[in-house]
Amino acid sequence: MKTIPVLFSLLALAGVIARAAPADRPNVVIIYADDLGWGDLGCYGNPVIRTPNLDRMAAEGMRFTDFYSAAEVCTPSRAALLTGRYPLRNGMCHDQFRVLRNNSAGGLPRDEVTLPELLKGRGYSTGIVGKWHLGHLPEHLPAHHGFDAYFGMPYSNDMMPAPDAPKGRPKFYEENNAYWRTPLIRGTEIVEAQPDQRLLTRRYTEEAVKFIREKKAAPFFLYVAHSFPHVPLFASERFRGKSAAGVYGDVIEELDWSVGEILATLRTEGLDRKTLVVFSSDNGPWLIFNHHGGSAGPLREGKGSTWEGGMRVPGLAWWPGKIPAGSVQREIATTMDLFTTCAKLAGATVPADRTIDGLDISPLLFNTGPVARDAFFYYRGATLYAARLGHWKAHYITRSAYGPDQPVKHEPPQLYHLGEDVSERIDRAKENPAVLARINEAVARHRADLKPAPSQLIETVARAN
Ligand code: MG
Repeated sequence: MKTIPVLFSLLALAGVIARAAPADRPNVVIIYADDLGWGDLGCYGNPVIRTPNLDRMAAEGMRFTDFYSAAEVCTPSRAALLTGRYPLRNGMCHDQFRVLRNNSAGGLPRDEVTLPELLKGRGYSTGIVGKWHLGHLPEHLPAHHGFDAYFGMPYSNDMMPAPDAPKGRPKFYEENNAYWRTPLIRGTEIVEAQPDQRLLTRRYTEEAVKFIREKKAAPFFLYVAHSFPHVPLFASERFRGKSAAGVYGDVIEELDWSVGEILATLRTEGLDRKTLVVFSSDNGPWLIFNHHGGSAGPLREGKGSTWEGGMRVPGLAWWPGKIPAGSVQREIATTMDLFTTCAKLAGATVPADRTIDGLDISPLLFNTGPVARDAFFYYRGATLYAARLGHWKAHYITRSAYGPDQPVKHEPPQLYHLGEDVSERIDRAKENPAVLARINEAVARHRADLKPAPSQLIETVARAN
């Protein structure tokens, strides 16, 4: 009779040992492009830009068709990725100034729990290479949010034009490196006031490879947040002038090279079977920059908008031996899910004292079953513009990304079927009142669950404004 409890104890002990064993905690690498569109990669149907490394990553792993960033611009998107929460909850949204500027005083609230903080609690080394954009003042830098190491730019690469830079919007087209002065930071110190942006992707890559080699003995979390293809666009000598898609194509092809270098390092170091790598983008393409902006493929609009092109982005997941090779995942997934999923994979517990919006999508990644998801919500700043439930999406408010127009409220909401009409062209609200009612109920459930952010909304308005 005593054998059963003993057996259970042994099994429980084995479970504890298994959870504690480093082999069971995968390394995690998240590669995050800036303003890359759904349609910019070969594996997403781009006919011009050459992305053999990303295409191979998709062929060896999983390609998501319906992968979402939690916001249509940089700052809130990054905050959601690292906290697993809609920007409205984590304090990183503002209706008018939706992005932190180079003279903003605010940053990610300290009482938010970030993914690197959770993973550090499980013995991970943590590093970020590239664009932070969650507060550039010393008290907001990555060191205060769970990162052991940081090398990169504190905000977007267009935020510090030199005094002699041409004024007005055309300045963004200017590829003259001397016009841009976004600094590079290592740890908490500015190490270069005016880095050569042509070398950014290469230098970020070298830093990422070095981090992997140095930290390979124990589990690590590496967040590679590229500055490109956010304008102004720069590529190194090796890639410049090579793509038929112009400088935008050059930049993407160099980012593709970078992904290849990182995956090759994982292979040569023998880490490929114990590392989850995810590639995605913070928001859709910045279409107002014409040939310097990317493509959302068949999706409507781009960066700054809550149409699909603003928030549905490429999503690739790679973990040889664990994620089925060559798989295409058509279920909805979001960058917020990475928080919960990676925490679970590392054996960490997600915070119970706040709402976490991210779901554990490991059943999707490993093709072991469905994930119970309610609706996905599209915000612009602190305002809910749209909601998706299954294939149906209701727009309560629409607005062009960067036009002078005002938001337009829709009553009844516009309703699109993203299966039959991925480009959101045919409003089907009139003949589908029951569908609208279901989405309205999902929005009501979401709103009932919205509590104030644990910190006050941090000031994101530029001091100078
Ligand atoms: Mg962006």
